[in-house]
Amino acid sequence: MKRRNLLQSGLAFGVGVTMARQSMAQAGTLNLYSARHYNTDEALYGNFADLTGIKINRVDAEPDPLVERLRAEGDKSPCDVFITTDAGRIERARQMGLLQAASSRTLDAAVPAHLRDPDGTWFGFSKRARVILYNKAKVQPSEVPTYESLAEPKWKGRLLVRTSGHIYNQSLTGSLLAALGPEKTEAWARGIAANLARAPRGGDTDQIKAIAAGEADLCLANTYYFANLLRSKKAEDRELAAKLGVVFPNQADRGTHVNISGGAVARYAPNKDAAVKFLEYLVSAQAQRYFAEGNSEYPVISGVELSPELNSLGAFKEDQLNARVYAQNNAEALKIMDRAGWK
Ligand code: FE
Repeated sequence: MKRRNLLQSGLAFGVGVTMARQSMAQAGTLNLYSARHYNTDEALYGNFADLTGIKINRVDAEPDPLVERLRAEGDKSPCDVFITTDAGRIERARQMGLLQAASSRTLDAAVPAHLRDPDGTWFGFSKRARVILYNKAKVQPSEVPTYESLAEPKWKGRLLVRTSGHIYNQSLTGSLLAALGPEKTEAWARGIAANLARAPRGGDTDQIKAIAAGEADLCLANTYYFANLLRSKKAEDRELAAKLGVVFPNQADRGTHVNISGGAVARYAPNKDAAVKFLEYLVSAQAQRYFAEGNSEYPVISGVELSPELNSLGAFKEDQLNARVYAQNNAEALKIMDRAGWK
């Protein structure tokens, strides 16, 4: 099949196509498949075009359909760069053979070692911590210093977290697996399941709103969901966020679990040089601000100014476990959570 036809058939995957079909391996062009889209994207991409003269053609879609599209297109894919959230997803794309290594001193120097693939296939460009949120009227932060402490019987009926089917929980549990081993991790997951105030439903923001409403006392969520409520234009969001506090777990030992938004050069990138240039651009101070700010994530390089809301959460110690390790633990983590009754 010709590339042109493949691009058209991309519509059959239910993917929104914004890409100009005529531009494939064209000088001055970059084809970006992005499963991460925020309101600062236009500035982020426009600025790259201004700096380099390389125009970005973008395909925006949800992570799984985008990976499926890359797979189906095979060596005819126009994709140069693939971007998604969660190391588990980008690692899965690597394992499927959809990505290629990008050797770049700039990337190796800018992205901390634990936030990139050891073989240089994918790179984290922003980070998020999976933290404990608590209702200040009901819990003292000193009562929940660690992820492990959430499994204590005293929290029975007082905890909320989304399903084990969601990759954020698989990555978190994958990090516990690396730290504690399978038996202790399963006992932990059993404790989590036993403490839930209700069967898991909804996303992280739903858990946060529920604890503010008093339906439970504690939840697990990624930092940007909370920061986005703190900076929300809606007064009710800011009011409910004000009832809650954040604990960065495991500060006295391995540190808090951090995950990434990451990017990689696609296996059959027609514009590989431009692809590497774009990834390098993403670690520049200017781009880091756009990239992280769009979703209240943390930049991966230091010295970038944080939003006041993110700043208000304070500094914290990160778990230095390489993201590929917990990403590769995802499948086993899911089995463990299943066995433990974490729905
Ligand atoms: Fe999210």
